[in-house]
Amino acid sequence: MADTAKNSKNCILELNFLLEVSTVLADISDSKILVDKLQEIFSEFFTINSFRIFVRDDSTSVFRDFVKDWITIEKNQQEELAENIFNKLEKSGCSCFLLNNKLIKYSSKNLTAVFTDYLTPAKNLLYFPVLNENKTIGVLEINFDKILTEIKIDFFLALQVAMLQISTSVSNKILNQNLQVHINFQNAMKSIAKLIETQFDLNYLLPIIGELIDRFVSDHLIYIFIKEDKGKFRLFWPSDCQDENILKLIAKMKKDKSYIISNNGKTGLFAIRNEDKTTGLIAASSNIDKLSREEINYLLQLSAQASVTTQRANSYAQVLKYATLDALTGLNNRRQFEIRLKQEFASAKRHKKALCCIMLDIDYFKHVNDTWGHSAGDCVLRNVAKIISGELREYDIASRYGGEEFCILLPDTRIKEAAFVAQRLRKAVEKTPINISDDPVLGSDFLNVSISVGVSELDDNFQDAQRLYQCADIALYEAKRRGRNRVVVYDEALEQI
Ligand code: GH3
Ligand code: MG
Ligand code: MG
Repeated sequence: MADTAKNSKNCILELNFLLEVSTVLADISDSKILVDKLQEIFSEFFTINSFRIFVRDDSTSVFRDFVKDWITIEKNQQEELAENIFNKLEKSGCSCFLLNNKLIKYSSKNLTAVFTDYLTPAKNLLYFPVLNENKTIGVLEINFDKILTEIKIDFFLALQVAMLQISTSVSNKILNQNLQVHINFQNAMKSIAKLIETQFDLNYLLPIIGELIDRFVSDHLIYIFIKEDKGKFRLFWPSDCQDENILKLIAKMKKDKSYIISNNGKTGLFAIRNEDKTTGLIAASSNIDKLSREEINYLLQLSAQASVTTQRANSYAQVLKYATLDALTGLNNRRQFEIRLKQEFASAKRHKKALCCIMLDIDYFKHVNDTWGHSAGDCVLRNVAKIISGELREYDIASRYGGEEFCILLPDTRIKEAAFVAQRLRKAVEKTPINISDDPVLGSDFLNVSISVGVSELDDNFQDAQRLYQCADIALYEAKRRGRNRVVVYDEALEQI
C-alpha cells in the first residue's frame, strides 16, 4: 500500500517534470532563454551542474554552442566531442544515449542493470543525440552533480522523453535559422541588384555592397579589393585590412578562377568579374570559423550579383560620360555646353554676329535641400529648368552647368535684348509656385524660389570662348552680392569690385 502511494507520488513528479519541459519548449523561442529555463527545471528535479547543447555544422563538422549564440567551442573540446561522444552516438543510431562514456540502448529492461553499473558517486555525464530525420546533428549534455542512483528508473525514462522533445525542438530551431539565413541571403541579392537603379558610381556602390554582404555573413569579416591598372589588388573597403591570410591568399588567386578557399578553410576570396576579367575581390575571413559549403555557395552567388551590378554601373558611367543631356533636367549637360559655346563663339566671330550668355543660379538653394530634402531640391531643379525652357526661343541653348547653376547661350542677340530675356526668366521663376510634393495623404506642397542672373555679350576683344562665360559669371556674382533675385549686366567696372 505504502509502495503504491509512493509510486503514484513519483508519477505525479514525472508528469510535472514533463509538463514543465513541454510548456517551456512551446513558449520560448529564444535559445538562450530556453536553455536557461530548462536548466531551472532540471535543477528543480535533479541536482545538476550544467545543461548544454552542441550542434554540429554539417559541412564543416565544427561544433557550436547552441546556448551561447552559436559560438564555436574550443579546439580540444571539439575533438573530445567528436571522437568520444558524437561519433559514438551517430554510429549507434537514434535509440542510444551515453552515460559516463558508455553507450546504452533505450530499453527499460536493460536500463536498470546498466544504469546503476555506470553511475559514479560524484559526477555523471549524460549525452543524448539531437536528431533530425534520424540523423544525428548534435548532442545534449547533462552534467549531474551528485549520485544519480537517487533517481528512480521511471524518472529516468521521463528524462529520456524530455530529451527527445528537446531534441526535436532544437532541430526545428536549426531549420528555422537556416530558413532565416536563406531569406537574408535573398534580401541581400535583391538589394545588390536594386542598387543600380539609383547609383552608378562605383565609389558609392562598392561600400554598400560590402556592408550588405557583411551583414549577411555574420561570422566572417568582409573586405572588397579592386584590381588596379598594374594588376595589383588594392583594398577598397573598409579602410583597413590587417589580415595576413587574405593577403597571402590573394597572391595565390588564379586569374580565371571565380573563388579560392585557404587550406584551413577559414578564408575565402570571391572574384568580381567584368567581361571575363577579374576586376575585384570579395574576401571573407575568420580566425575561428571555417566557411561552410552553404556560405561558400552564398558568397559565390553574391559575388556574381555584385559583378553584374558593377558591370552595369561601369557601362552606365561610360554612357553618361558621352551623353549630351543632363539626366535630371533634360537640358544640355556641361560637357555639351562647352562644345556649343566653342561652336557659337567661332560662328559669331566669323559671321560678325552678336552672341550673349546668361548665367543663373538659384538663390538659397541649400536651404531648400536642408528644409525639404534632396528630392524636393531635385524637383525644384527640374521645374526651374522647365520654366527656363518655356521662356526661350528654339535656337537658344540652355544647359545645366553645375548643381543649381544654369547657362544659356543666345545666338544673334544683343545685350539689351539678352538683359530683357534675363528679367523675363527671373520674373517667371519668382512668380511660379513649384509643386514639391503630391502626396495622396498629406496633399500638395508648393514652394517659391528666386534666381540671380548675370548677362554678358561677346566682345571683339575676347580671345577665347571661355571669356564670354566668365563675364556672365562675374555679373552673376555681383547679382548675388547686391542681394539676389536680380539681373546684373556685365561691365568692366565690375572686375574692379
Ligand atoms: P546662393 O544664394 O548664394 O546661391 O546660396 P545657395 O544655397 O543656393 O548656394 P550653395 O552653392 O551654397 O548651395 C548649392 C547647393 O546645391 C549645395 C548642393 O548640395 C546643392 N546641389 C547641387 N547639385 C544638386 C542636385 O543635383 N540636387 C540637389 N537636390 N541639390 C544639389
Ligand atoms: Mg545658389
Ligand atoms: Mg551655386
